Amino acid sequence: MTTLDQIRSRIRERILKRCKRPKGGCWEWQGASSKGYGRMKYEGRVLLTHRLSAFASGIIDNLEPAPNNVVLHLCNNPKCCRPDHLKRGTQSENMRQWARDRFCADNCAVNGRQEIPKKSNNLKTNNKKWSERCDSNTRPPRPER
Ligand SMILES: [Zn+2]
Repeated sequence: MTTLDQIRSRIRERILKRCKRPKGGCWEWQGASSKGYGRMKYEGRVLLTHRLSAFASGIIDNLEPAPNNVVLHLCNNPKCCRPDHLKRGTQSENMRQWARDRFCADNCAVNGRQEIPKKSNNLKTNNKKWSERCDSNTRPPRPER
């Protein structure tokens, strides 16, 4: 019989093998990814590596997707699997964090502090707009559901 601890340590091993782990930095997943998030096949399903890592370290109790079982990146690096850069949260927290990080007037490295209105896809954050066009290089991907 396989215990939960054994399952967790096996997942941890698989993840650590494929992460770059610079001292003090993010543990970036080097394997397959999509939309910026690392992915790994586990028990016949393709799962997000940061979620697997959070499960392996006991941050979440199970791998089932649920609105209150979301894994957030404290470092905003979608490929990061470092457990102390991850925390458990809710989907609405995730969306709030995403909107805050995306607000181009504050943090767009490409277009400076200009706001570039676009007809569609404008999000409102703090009553200001940011556009999809802005900061294409700096914008992390949309959070996973
Ligand atoms: Zn990180």
